[in-house]
Amino acid sequence: MALSDAYHGETIGALSIGGVDLYSQIYKPILLDIVRVSGPDCYRCRYGQKRDNCDAECFKEAEKCFKLYADEICAFVVEPLVQCAGGMRIYPPKYLKKIRQACSRYNVHLIADEIATGFGRTGKMFACEHAGISPDIICLSKGLTGGYLPMALAVTTQEIYDAFYADYNEGKAFMHSHTYSGNPLACSAANEVLSVMQEEQILEKATENAGYFTQLISESLKNHKNVGEIRSIGLINAVELVEERETKLAFDPKLRIGYHVYKRALSKGVLLRPLGDVLYFNPPLTITREEMDSVVKISTECIRDIII
Ligand SMILES: *Cc1c(COP(=O)(O)O)cnc(C)c1O
Repeated sequence: MALSDAYHGETIGALSIGGVDLYSQIYKPILLDIVRVSGPDCYRCRYGQKRDNCDAECFKEAEKCFKLYADEICAFVVEPLVQCAGGMRIYPPKYLKKIRQACSRYNVHLIADEIATGFGRTGKMFACEHAGISPDIICLSKGLTGGYLPMALAVTTQEIYDAFYADYNEGKAFMHSHTYSGNPLACSAANEVLSVMQEEQILEKATENAGYFTQLISESLKNHKNVGEIRSIGLINAVELVEERETKLAFDPKLRIGYHVYKRALSKGVLLRPLGDVLYFNPPLTITREEMDSVVKISTECIRDIII
């Protein structure tokens, strides 16, 4: 079970639960069967609510799927609080809490894909902490090595671990490995990143940076007539550009507004990587004020240059 607009990677299982067609289209014939839950869309809420004070009304759509399919579902896989590749869609902790409750009630494992959100990105070590929940399995990567070496972890509960653990003679094991599993160099980079995070109080510094960055982006862009929404959590800030603010009407994709802003910014030395018309900033937790100032200044200029 997974949400619409989910992104979980590009191996067959991960692609199957992904909800962004762009990645999976040509593999459709060989993808696994899954239950797709229509997920939160807070900017264009189907229930006319606001992200900050809703009651996660849209969860009733997930609830329906639990009722129908819980018996055949092994896990609900979710990106906690931010669906990144799907457009930096931020949704409230309440929704995640409801997923946890339903998973427990229906006896379905909850897998939190924190590959993008883990290690301080959202202002907490893990995004799940915002909702005060704990998954049965958590997927970690990206920030784990600060991006310097490839390394990923699946961390699980004692209960799941024990299910695969037995005396050697029983011949029971979780046989799922890769040539470079547990690569010592990558492990050592990960250990060092974790030490640096503690020793240099990276999380605290990231929180200060996040406050500064979000305010800066808001001041520079909130009044622009084509800025539909600025959404932020920790050091993720996303700016959704629209043709019409009032109606939230999207730009014609053929105009490729995001791409043109990207090209312009690149010529001025800033590498953005928009998702369609969603420009987002996902900088190192250790970004400096000068860097934030210049990134926001250049991006704002470029948006003004492209959309007149
Ligand atoms: C980047 C990302 C992945 C992909 O991880 P791989 O190690 O490349 O398979 C999966 N899920 C999320 C949420 C990501 O952001």
